[in-house]
Amino acid sequence: MKTEIVNLKSEITSLPVMEHFYTLQGEGFHQGKAAYFIRLGGCDVGCVWCDVKDSWDASKHPKLSVESLKLRVKETPAKIVVITGGEPLMHDLDELTKVLQTAGLKTNIETSGAYPLSGKWDWICLSPKKFKAPLPEVIPFADELKVVVFNKSDFDWAEKYAALVSPTCKLYLQPEWDKAAEMTPLIIDYIKAHPKWELSLQIHKYINVP
Ligand code: SF4
Repeated sequence: MKTEIVNLKSEITSLPVMEHFYTLQGEGFHQGKAAYFIRLGGCDVGCVWCDVKDSWDASKHPKLSVESLKLRVKETPAKIVVITGGEPLMHDLDELTKVLQTAGLKTNIETSGAYPLSGKWDWICLSPKKFKAPLPEVIPFADELKVVVFNKSDFDWAEKYAALVSPTCKLYLQPEWDKAAEMTPLIIDYIKAHPKWELSLQIHKYINVP
């Protein structure tokens, strides 16, 4: 019994980390702001166009303690930490966000919403995926809804979730990177016809930062 308790605690205080780095947030509401990214391993959502498929298998990535992650962030002037993946909510993030917030850092998350919410967040970016839909109980907590547009049917998908988020939630349409030349003109026309939406571009890919 004692062993089980120790194992549970170590699951919460260390997490599989694919990469972590200080850069600019390239997408959505916080686009252009300096932020420290922590990309957690593990995802079973299965987006066909996923650009971080190496993240899917959590066992491929070393487990780092939340304390050591906080220390790495504090080596930089970062004020915002973005927890991404993979699908970060596959993990219990209570301890990670507690440690980061106690250190005076803002905690932002990028999630598909496919797993229950854990952690305390200053900003939740919900990016629902058709391959594994978000849990209904996560949707009202979104500060930002960011829908990746891969084909025309994604506009209807976007509207379905826009109707479910809170009235103050920011709404973004973002072209899938490899389809950007084809989809961006359609997104521009769509936003002009439905101005509650805004355009999100992956500017980190244009300015060539991670
Ligand atoms: S949710 Fe994110 S990490 Fe997971 S498959 Fe989709 S794009 Fe890739």
